Amino acid sequence: MKKYHTVIVGAGPAGLACATMLAQAGREVLVLERRNRVGPKVCAGGITWSGLKQRLPEDLLQKAFPDQHIRTPWQQTAISAGQPLVSTVSREELGQWQLDQARAAGARILSSTAVGRLAADHLEAGGETFGFRYLVGADGSGSKVRQYLGLPTLTVGVGVNCFVPGNFMRMEWHLDPYYFNNGYAWVFPHREYAAIGAYASRLTTRPLVLQKNFRRWADKHGIYLGAAKMTAALINYDFRGWRFGNFFLTGDAAGLASPLTGEGIYPAIISGEEAARTILDPAYRAPQLDALLVRHRHHRRLVAFTGANRLACRLTLEGLVLALRVGLLPFTALEMAG
Ligand SMILES: Cc1cc2nc3c(=O)[nH]c(=O)nc-3n(C[C@H](O)[C@H](O)[C@H](O)COP(=O)(O)OP(=O)(O)OC[C@H]3O[C@@H](n4cnc5c(N)ncnc54)[C@H](O)[C@@H]3O)c2cc1C
Repeated sequence: MKKYHTVIVGAGPAGLACATMLAQAGREVLVLERRNRVGPKVCAGGITWSGLKQRLPEDLLQKAFPDQHIRTPWQQTAISAGQPLVSTVSREELGQWQLDQARAAGARILSSTAVGRLAADHLEAGGETFGFRYLVGADGSGSKVRQYLGLPTLTVGVGVNCFVPGNFMRMEWHLDPYYFNNGYAWVFPHREYAAIGAYASRLTTRPLVLQKNFRRWADKHGIYLGAAKMTAALINYDFRGWRFGNFFLTGDAAGLASPLTGEGIYPAIISGEEAARTILDPAYRAPQLDALLVRHRHHRRLVAFTGANRLACRLTLEGLVLALRVGLLPFTALEMAG
């Protein structure tokens, strides 16, 4: 049995961020990924300026938007800033870039290798057994590592997305409780297509209802989805801890995506890095993760409150957009970066 300092399950943004940092510090790291290619994932690829945008090379950005067009049943507005508030990235390109970083740092990445049985100091994957001192669960919303730790996953969001070809010029957010309760639909333009989709908490909206309402919403607004394939996935926001002895949970496996917006790439990368720093120095206090958790709690409370009552939901969303319009609330309040 080959033994590693750290084994990481999942080569998404969280796993690769963690692997890169540990390998840069000279630790022997193995990343196990069940898919045959790193990167592709059901995702709209929106990243925020104060979050990830600053950390990525310019050529990874597809399009950047200083204006955010927001629409509710009662209001239609554009929130503007001198700098881009939100940009888009291709998950394929982000994944391949992170993969290069992790490999260059010295991490070993095995794709087409699903993790099977887990134990306290070893696991089975691809017909082999790998030992570890630390194990990082970066295996997304259906995390096997989380299941091994016995943590339930009760509060999750549902996201649906289509990639629609064309040159779209406006980044749009549609907050319409009639279709999405306290969730929303988006149009996030990339270079040659737009990610058009919707997010809602599963507590208020079942996945099939979301899919149906998304199509009805698109019809109502004259948004032509054509033959674009609709994909759907869960987004775990049921945070119940991230550090469990020599086991760590990061990103969606830890339930760190925003309950309000479903933003999860930034939390994944920050938590992957903070887990790495904690493995390197157990006395490390993880301040960036703490800041993220403050945002997470605020977003979770807002989702619980608005999810309990349709009228409260409608009034809160309208109030939120009004506060954005008159400048009482900055757009960054909706982001996971503090
Ligand atoms: C429709 C939709 C739209 C979204 N849009 C956005 C957006 O615009 N911006 C944003 O910030 N977030 C968005 N998100 C959320 C975002 O995609 C996730 O929060 C983010 O990918 C989480 O990263 P992660 O590394 O934790 O997990 P993942 O990206 O899910 O990576 C987990 C990896 O683990 C692998 N894996 C799983 N199980 C095993 C196993 N047993 N063995 C080996 N490997 C395994 C998977 O194959 C995967 O590669 C969206 C989500 C959805 C569903």
